[in-house]
Amino acid sequence: MKIVFKKVPSSGVDFQTSFEGIKFYGKLEKKSKSLVQCIGKLEGTLTCLCDRCAKEISLHVNEKIDLLASDGIYESSEELVEVMEFFDETVDLDTILLSEVETLKSDYHYCSTCNETD
Ligand SMILES: [Zn+2]
Repeated sequence: MKIVFKKVPSSGVDFQTSFEGIKFYGKLEKKSKSLVQCIGKLEGTLTCLCDRCAKEISLHVNEKIDLLASDGIYESSEELVEVMEFFDETVDLDTILLSEVETLKSDYHYCSTCNETD
């Protein structure tokens, strides 16, 4: 799902998309000429492998997302803000979702058996 930067109103627009078992929904709000705030939630179940025994495990996801989407290169002194840059004048919510899913998958996850023997 893509939304053109120029079409995001300051009153906000709802969005919803999904990837595998994860639903991503929330609101986009125009913050400035080239910045859109994305506030939403990731919900669902992600399948990943146990980092110790490689058994498949289901990861329950319930994450809040709060980041800025920048139309082009983000130039600001503001730090500690998660920013994603887009270069085709659209906010690609699937790109945001995929990057969040990759971050979740890159964490260490152990199945219940491996957790017990810790
Ligand atoms: Zn395991």
